[in-house]
Amino acid sequence: MRILLVEDDDRIAGDVTHALAAAGYVVERAKDGENAWFLGDTEDYSAIVLDLGLPGMDGLAVLKRWRANGRTTPVLVLTARSSWSEKVEGIDAGADDYLAKPFRMEELLARLRSIIRRSVGHASSVATLGDLTLDERAMKVSLRGAPVDLSPLEYRLVAYLILHRGRVVPQQELLENIYGQDEQSSNAVEVLVGRVRRKIGGKWIETRRGFGYLMPENPL
Ligand code: CA
Repeated sequence: MRILLVEDDDRIAGDVTHALAAAGYVVERAKDGENAWFLGDTEDYSAIVLDLGLPGMDGLAVLKRWRANGRTTPVLVLTARSSWSEKVEGIDAGADDYLAKPFRMEELLARLRSIIRRSVGHASSVATLGDLTLDERAMKVSLRGAPVDLSPLEYRLVAYLILHRGRVVPQQELLENIYGQDEQSSNAVEVLVGRVRRKIGGKWIETRRGFGYLMPENPL
């Protein structure tokens, strides 16, 4: 999953990037409002973490412009501590949730998981598909109750497909959400899918030639 982190403070951005990467997310960062607005308007992210106090265009203005343009990407707003007016304004401007600084990284991750799940219509951090289970908190996939040993890339693939189950996910979208900006050939996804199929069984990931991959909601 690809996250846009909008934060001008290098220290906070470094800490958040580190935590997100460790949790399996692909992170891109914008340092100012204009760049944030452009990326959020032209790229597809699973979610955006948006600091409100930014140089140039402030975070609220950026958020309002995204929403005015019909961009529905879930947004977690970072507000100054105790500023209730920023929280209210943020939510009115279209934020999906907010977090006051300073915050615990665990809380940021929990809120992020929650807004991403809600954006695709799921309620729980544990997703079950037949005998396949994804526990996002523990970053674990199990099959018939037994944990499956997956590499970080394999985990990202399975987690992304489970989250978007029932929808054909184009290869390009998988590339962006698993590898981020690292240049990879589309072949990389095919190879990764092959490895995962050997671990969890072939029925979970269907290939739709020319379209992408599908994790069926009711695999046979
Ligand atoms: Ca700031």
